[in-house]
Amino acid sequence: MKILYATSEMVPYVKTGGLADVAGALPRALASLGHDVAVVMPYYGAIDPAMVEPEPVLPEVVVDLPAGLRVMSVWKSELPAATAHHSKTEPKPVSVYLIRDKGLFDRPGLYGAEGKDYPDNALRFGYFCQAAIWMIKGLNWHPDLINCNDWQTALIPIFLRTLDANRTDPLLERIRVMFTIHNISYQGSFSPHTLGQLGLPEVLYNPEAMEYFGQVNLMKGGLVFSDWVTAVSRQYSREIQTPEFGFGMQGVLRKRADSLSGILNGIDPEIWNPKTDPALAENYSAKKLKGKATCKKALQKRFGLDPKAKGPLLGIISRLADQKGFDILAHALPEILATGAQFVLLGTGHPGHHKFFEHLAEKHVGQVGVELSFNDALAHQIEAGADMFLMPSHFEPCGLNQLYSLRYGTVPVVRRTGGLADSIKNLTPKGLASGRSNGFVFTKYHARDLEKATLKAIRFYRKDPKGWQRLMRNGMAQDFSWEHSAKVYEKLMEAIVSQPGEGED
Ligand code: ADP
Repeated sequence: MKILYATSEMVPYVKTGGLADVAGALPRALASLGHDVAVVMPYYGAIDPAMVEPEPVLPEVVVDLPAGLRVMSVWKSELPAATAHHSKTEPKPVSVYLIRDKGLFDRPGLYGAEGKDYPDNALRFGYFCQAAIWMIKGLNWHPDLINCNDWQTALIPIFLRTLDANRTDPLLERIRVMFTIHNISYQGSFSPHTLGQLGLPEVLYNPEAMEYFGQVNLMKGGLVFSDWVTAVSRQYSREIQTPEFGFGMQGVLRKRADSLSGILNGIDPEIWNPKTDPALAENYSAKKLKGKATCKKALQKRFGLDPKAKGPLLGIISRLADQKGFDILAHALPEILATGAQFVLLGTGHPGHHKFFEHLAEKHVGQVGVELSFNDALAHQIEAGADMFLMPSHFEPCGLNQLYSLRYGTVPVVRRTGGLADSIKNLTPKGLASGRSNGFVFTKYHARDLEKATLKAIRFYRKDPKGWQRLMRNGMAQDFSWEHSAKVYEKLMEAIVSQPGEGED
């Protein structure tokens, strides 16, 4: 198949969250299965040309929307296919097409700055999506399927299916679109004028299409106009059909229940590998765990924590957003810290959460370490140096850090939601022995339940070091690499591509 992966961020070029990790791994894994895969994304100012080494392939892409005419350009770079263990032929590299428009994308942030979204985000991503469609024609490379991701790329199916010029173009008309939801709480909601500015028919401003509570909702349009919808875990694909987790989209999603599936994200086993990770003080593996103790010492030193403390070291790496469960964590932390356990947090986000954690670190010098920045190397060091990883999320579409934690022998303590529910199995004596148990799970979104699960983990860590090692090894033995998930995507994509389109038999 020819597959175009449309995304607003991708590792190793730019990253603000999990989507970038997925975009940097899934297309490469699909390429290693033998498919012809390309990625299209904006050429942000933050992308380092020395790393990307882009070449201009379409120097003039004229995008003429009612909001104005812009002359954009397309640049090409390449990512190697993932190391293929089973492929007989050398897989092709993944082409990465970067859409350049300095005024739109050469800004300090990807989606906003200083905690505020850019006011012209609808137009920024509107131009991006239209340019991506032009690019397909300009390159004369017609994918069988475009995989769009979240609201930033939702305008691709909307433009493809609602503009006459695209609907009547036989080469565009046969392209199937799969829309992947990474987080339904971010929907790209804009004023009704947006439709006119983007050249979209006014009839789309209706509840069956893109209207939602007086706004134009790009996510909703993506859900309505794509051939298939996926979410990043099975549990999340069920949760978003309920009022608690659907953020208003539950009705649309329930209507689409027959063309909605959930596929758990994988992890890049080369980037996240304690055996070879260059960020670690010492590498280690399930067979030779010694290096993990060195990583813990290095982490304690980095944050000025007492190296003689007996308790476990608990870690968090996260966007500091309400979704991640910081309100219940704030209530549970006093009891957790009273056990003598150490705690390290790396994150950025909501100013209120920044204040809280700054204050916590000041109050518990030597026991709590906080770094309020985005720091990839430190994220790897925390995964390696911590004994446990906390994810008390209210909702978590997939979550990657619990998967990284498993690989690094860091035992996750999580709430049973979304991808956390699909990947972490609570400690039971039987599960420990069979290899199934790999962490601690609580169900109710309540501080008391988080506290109970964490205290249970701390007790187990202290009382049963052998059992703890077994729990660590259970997680380390599991395979959450993309190889498996990419095959599930492949099968689904093949089924979607072979579906007859509108008006076909
Ligand atoms: P989300 O996409 O909701 O932010 P995920 O768990 O799916 O959550 O992915 C988050 C990714 O971003 C992980 O790879 C995590 O390690 C990384 N990350 C989050 N915050 C930071 C930070 N402050 N510094 C470095 N990496 C971070």
